[in-house]
Amino acid sequence: MRGGALRASSVLARRGGEIAIFDTGLAHHAASLVAALALEGITPQDVTLVFNTHAHVDHSHNNALFPRAGIYCSKRDRDWTRALHEVLARVTRPGPEHALPFYPAMAASTYNPKIVRKLLAIEKLLWDESRWGGTDRAIWLEEVEPPSGISVIETPGHAPHHVSFAIETGGRAVLVCGDALLLREDLNARVALMPPWDVSAYRASHDRIRNFDGVIVPGHDEPFDNTPVRE
Ligand SMILES: [Zn+2]
Repeated sequence: MRGGALRASSVLARRGGEIAIFDTGLAHHAASLVAALALEGITPQDVTLVFNTHAHVDHSHNNALFPRAGIYCSKRDRDWTRALHEVLARVTRPGPEHALPFYPAMAASTYNPKIVRKLLAIEKLLWDESRWGGTDRAIWLEEVEPPSGISVIETPGHAPHHVSFAIETGGRAVLVCGDALLLREDLNARVALMPPWDVSAYRASHDRIRNFDGVIVPGHDEPFDNTPVRE
């Protein structure tokens, strides 16, 4: 499903009996995700694998829709996200001061505190850890390699343990970037719309993405074909 400002991209891949979904979106997009799968003749029970680039609400909150799927994700990323939400849960109106220990890059004064407050309020409102799917179904990327044809590319910056997934296909390879690349145009812009966890790591991840030869799927934008520029 196409990503946009208010929804993250979800990608479907299938091979033999395996049906995989990369990033699952916000809980209130569950019906449209199920409808999109139905167009491909797939029910939620058919999905065997889920992959999360990171655990933010808009990338992980329909994991629970897929009762049979093993969920590949980073344990460190989940722990980091849960710790942030434990802080947000304790305050009524979270502000930059609560997020700062998790997003030290925010200390630079270039971020609008009003926008930060709004983002934190949305995260807090939509947060429901049960939507990650049971921990018993999690397959930690730190311990287990994904099936052949799928490789993990570390793309920290937006979050400290963010990963992207490269998928081999019969044609052009596909890179699911999550929020390592929010919008296509960010690839060449040197600014970040949202405060990342670490600005230099975020930019280094962009450099890695820019070198990918294939179709790139940004977290909140349409897929596009990329050929690395050799210098
Ligand atoms: Zn995110």
